[in-house]
Amino acid sequence: MTDPIFKTSAEDAPRRSLDSEGRLDLIGLSREEMAEAFAELGEKSFRVKQVWLWLYNRGVTTIDEMTNLSKPLRDRMQERFFISRPQVSREQTSVDSTRKWLLRFGDRNEAETVYIPDPDEERGAVCISTQVGCTLTCRFCHTGTQKLVRNLTAAEIVGQFLIARDSYGEWPTPNETGRLLSNVVVMGMGEPLFNYDATVNALKILTDPDGISLSKRRVTLSTSGVVPRMYDLGRDVGVNLAISLHAATDDVRSEIMPINKKWPLKELMQACRDYPGATNARRITFEYIMLKGVNDSDADARQLARMVKGIPCKFNLLPFNPWPGSTLECSDWARIERFSDVLAGLGYSAPIRTPRGRDILAACGQLKSDSQRERKARGLAADASLVGVLPETSAPATPAA
Ligand code: SAH
Ligand code: SF4
Repeated sequence: MTDPIFKTSAEDAPRRSLDSEGRLDLIGLSREEMAEAFAELGEKSFRVKQVWLWLYNRGVTTIDEMTNLSKPLRDRMQERFFISRPQVSREQTSVDSTRKWLLRFGDRNEAETVYIPDPDEERGAVCISTQVGCTLTCRFCHTGTQKLVRNLTAAEIVGQFLIARDSYGEWPTPNETGRLLSNVVVMGMGEPLFNYDATVNALKILTDPDGISLSKRRVTLSTSGVVPRMYDLGRDVGVNLAISLHAATDDVRSEIMPINKKWPLKELMQACRDYPGATNARRITFEYIMLKGVNDSDADARQLARMVKGIPCKFNLLPFNPWPGSTLECSDWARIERFSDVLAGLGYSAPIRTPRGRDILAACGQLKSDSQRERKARGLAADASLVGVLPETSAPATPAA
């Protein structure tokens, strides 16, 4: 793995975050790391559960709110620890109720997080980013035009969900059936499996039953196909998997997604077959952007069905969102419907994703331009960059659960 775009860990974010006073961020630590930090303070490991509940069940943002800890202990904790939250630079809500936050991290890098409510039920998905920029250069993706700025830390990934909970006041953690923020989709900016450790640590925190308590079947991670890490992910956390597939042949896929040259379709399909937990009840989602004249023929649909044979899966057809400078076009609506019908006729569910949040530029391919415009307007330095392409909703956003 010599090509820098395929590095899976070299830019990994630091595991522990310190503030300017050298205090350790409690957010983003695993239970084991937190136990170590308390041991350094001469405290027993049962403190971890107490503090965990305050942070992730009650959602406190200050150590002083942890009222079942003695004042002297809280004072000692204040000297050693802090609780981070990304800063909300802007919050917008769409006419269709999609909500978007522009978040700023300690080094002024920014990321956008989107909440996509289910239109029919009291639930919805928070779409989170894992990197600022992306090392890959998929031709249809706006994020792909921006170089990787850096990986986000586990605290920054978890922090995106905490901000969403703050915004909807969903503290303490409500029952699983009574939550607006019921699902997480790791489909924001960046390739999560190229920021593996921080992403997995964040997913473990999000799914810990004592805290935020999301069930694994309500968390979906989307990857462009980092094959070796798919095996690791299945073993380490086993959340639902979505694959950015977008082509039925290696020729076309390599043309629009450079990662295919490294891990071609045969290997990708095998990794899907081997993904633990991929059953009919928890199918893998294949995301497929409809690109006019590139990947949208009936023959493509039939080839897709042949290729995924035996994998418990469903498709999600994404109308392509053009962006300034993109050379690709979205397939005509009739073609997309026909493509969906061909797949359905062969026994595969293939709904067409409805764009959401377009009025607040929260749809795929729209976030990057939005952030750049904002930055220019505010006259900030060009390197304080960020931004992403987020998906519209559909199956992963309103999973079959
Ligand atoms: N890097 C991961 C996670 C990002 S997910 C991955 O590629 O899977 C972002 C989703 O939005 C992916 O399915 C991606 O293919 C899709 N997407 C990117 N650009 C798009 C565009 N212009 N129109 C529609 N969907 C797009
Ligand atoms: Fe990166 Fe995913 Fe966009 Fe490809 S589709 S450039 S992997 S964010």
